[in-house]
This record gives sequence, C-alpha cells and structure tokens, in this order.
Amino acid sequence: MLEVEGLEVSYGHVRAVRDVSFEVKEGEFAVFLGRNGAGKTSLLKALLGQVKARGRITLRGRRLEGLPPWRRVKLGLSLVPEGRQVFSPLTVRENLELGAFVAPGKLKRNLAQVFSLFPVLEEKAGLPAGALSGGEQQMLAIGRALMAEPALLLLDEPSMGLAPKVVQEIYATLKKLKGRLTVLLVEQNVKKALSLADRVFLLESGRLVSSWGRDEVDETVVEAAYLGGSEL
Ligand code: ATP
Repeated sequence: MLEVEGLEVSYGHVRAVRDVSFEVKEGEFAVFLGRNGAGKTSLLKALLGQVKARGRITLRGRRLEGLPPWRRVKLGLSLVPEGRQVFSPLTVRENLELGAFVAPGKLKRNLAQVFSLFPVLEEKAGLPAGALSGGEQQMLAIGRALMAEPALLLLDEPSMGLAPKVVQEIYATLKKLKGRLTVLLVEQNVKKALSLADRVFLLESGRLVSSWGRDEVDETVVEAAYLGGSEL
C-alpha cells in the first residue's frame, strides 16, 4: 500500500535520509529502528510532505510527491508526531476535533471510537490538553491522528520520555490497532517495537541497512545489528 523509492532528505550539507527504498503492505505493522539522528523523524516528515524530499512515494497507487501535507492526510496518511505536540490551551475534545478536519461528517462516530479506545480522554474531554499527564497526552496525540481515519498511521517514537508503565499502556493500545489499519512506527525501544512488528527496518546514518520479515525477526539479531551488541 506504501511504496517508497530512492527517498532523500537533506538539510543543507546534512544528508538525513539517503536513497531509502521500502514497501509496506496493506494491514502490516512496520517498524523502523535507528539510533538518535538516524533519520527516522526525517523519513516520516518526508512521507507527510513536511520537509523537502527527493524520490518516489506511492500510497495505494497514488503518487504523493509535490502534494502538500493536508492533501496527503486526505489521501490516508496521519502522523503522531515526536513529542506529541498537542495544543495545550485547547481542550481534549477540541484537539480531537482538529484531527477530524478531513472527515468532518464522521466526527461523532470517530470521537466515540477514540473515546472507547482511550476512556480517560472522554473523562477529561473538557480539560485543557496541557493539564494531561505525558501518557495521556500521547493517547491524545494518537487519538487525534485516528480522528482522520487514516489508512496508514505514522507514529514517531510514542514511548519517548514516558514511564515504563505508561509505555505498556500505549503499546497495549497499539496492539488493539494492529491489523485494523496499516502502521509505520519509528522507535528506539527495540523490545516494545518488536513485540508488534510484522516487518522491521534498520536505519543507520540515513541509510536503510537491514530489514527483517516477521518470521526472521529475532530480538538478539536485531539488537546486535542495532547497536553492535552494546547496551540499549
Ligand atoms: P531522533 O531519534 O533524535 O529524533 P531521528 O532518527 O529521528 O533522531 P532525524 O531527526 O531525522 O533523526 O535527524 C537526522 C539527521 O538530520 C540528524 O543528523 C539531525 O541532526 C539532522 N536534522 C534533523 N532536522 C534538521 C533540521 N531541521 N536542520 C538541520 N539538520 C537537521
């Protein structure tokens, strides 16, 4: 459903993504692993059109290059950004409503679905998003992305900066989403990501250096390749 060929992202002299090609199939849960600065965020931003990129991006047969982010969202992409980026002064409900801008007719139904996935968001619907805990804000960021009814959900390090118990909760929710839509997750948390992955890609200095299918995914192998065996 997503085909990427020869993707390149540069910031001046810094080549953040170098000739990256891969494919994600309908319904798959794909994971990109990579250390700090490996190019994970740049890759997601390039898919969404938030940074300038070279190469081909095809989503369900439609070429995306040159389209502005909002058009790509309309075509089925939705991003849960790094660091959550909720709108702090707006209420939880308003944040979710903003996520529904491409599917206004389905706002009520999608809101009910997000509330059933994250009951705490319904309890706190009238509170400013800034009053939520980090974990709740992450749930809100995921809920906001789901309000657009994406075909492909892009998630940027959803476990970053959260306590292990909260990470557990976030991943329990991602497990519920698995199979219901296609997911492309970028992570540094190898263990968590591998528990859900159908396909794993490894980025190193902007290059795609390895990939494993579901049956080949072995934590030891991935960890060894990931950090050359050093501590995670
Ligand atoms: P992290 O896990 O730290 O977010 P990442 O794998 O997501 O890392 P990117 O944020 O995509 O990596 O960064 C890839 C490279 O591009 C890094 O060398 C980074 O310093 C550089 N970079 C990212 N954004 C910019 C920018 N706006 N201007 C210049 N260089 C940038």
